[in-house]
Amino acid sequence: MREPGVKGVNARRVIELRWDPTLSEWVMISNIRESRPWRPTSESACPFCPGSPEVGERSEAPFLLENRFPMLVPDPPRLDGVGEYPLVKAPGRGECYVIVESLEHDLPDLSFVGVDGVAKVIEEVANLTRRAMGEGYAYVLWFRNRGEEVGVSLTHPHSQVYVTPFTPSKVLRELTSAWRYFRLRGECLFCKVLKEELRSGERVVLEGGGFAAFVPFYAHWPFEVHIYPERHVQLLTQLSREEVRGLAEALVKVLKALDKVFDKPMPYVLATHQAPLRGEYPHYHLHIEIYGMLRASGKLKYAAGMEQGGGNFTYDSTPEDAAERLRQALRRVEEHG
Ligand SMILES: [Zn+2]
Ligand SMILES: [Zn+2]
Ligand SMILES: [Zn+2]
Repeated sequence: MREPGVKGVNARRVIELRWDPTLSEWVMISNIRESRPWRPTSESACPFCPGSPEVGERSEAPFLLENRFPMLVPDPPRLDGVGEYPLVKAPGRGECYVIVESLEHDLPDLSFVGVDGVAKVIEEVANLTRRAMGEGYAYVLWFRNRGEEVGVSLTHPHSQVYVTPFTPSKVLRELTSAWRYFRLRGECLFCKVLKEELRSGERVVLEGGGFAAFVPFYAHWPFEVHIYPERHVQLLTQLSREEVRGLAEALVKVLKALDKVFDKPMPYVLATHQAPLRGEYPHYHLHIEIYGMLRASGKLKYAAGMEQGGGNFTYDSTPEDAAERLRQALRRVEEHG
């Protein structure tokens, strides 16, 4: 029998992880997401607005909602076996949340929530990280997609959190590089990158409140900005209240500067890289990565043949030039708001 919310020829509910033995990474498979809503036409249909069945009569934001169309669930359907190498699968056990960042439907971006609001959003993610640790999960990834160019289906300001049973591939690659460097040089690779970026200053966008934001020497996306805590910490849960505020201030400034570069909303993806939840990772360093995707006004950078097919990015300007434009944009933000 067809289960509610499940479409397609395969009416069985499937939420599972499949192992890609060629790239050594997990793919998350869920067929309950096929019935995901695409852009509600009116505010009254918005699931993140007060008055909706999910939100009810709340009067304060941010708040956490369970994702109605999760890739991972705490009690995934039982598998009929895990398969045999090379075609191996695992239950899609995890949790997917939406953080509704504001009660206002039309707020254009997270930066408009203000420093206090952004600090509260970060605290939500830190609390969730603390809880996920207690439940034996492997990782907590906080991310945010901005703009229809990156496939945002609901414009009400929100970000997402995936609590996963595995460590994401990109973080694993960073951990491997950082571990090698740590063994070789006895210091943190990220602290060293930060030190070099601050020493040269060429690509630094801002510094203050215990955080620095810079366009990395090796940027992939046109307006890619990384935000590092100056203190060597691994997890959001290790940040003091003042540091959370410092991070919120840096984030608000960077996001406002991104919108000012072309005087139009910058489509971006934001992801927080923290250490895995199980084990000790003294060689790792918490940071936020933001990938601003416009390379010119109205020109979007696509991850296409070389990027998708080869895995290596092409950069059509220089990261130094992008940093200079971001610093100028930030000055305009500070002068005119
Ligand atoms: Zn709304
Ligand atoms: Zn470090
Ligand atoms: Zn990273």
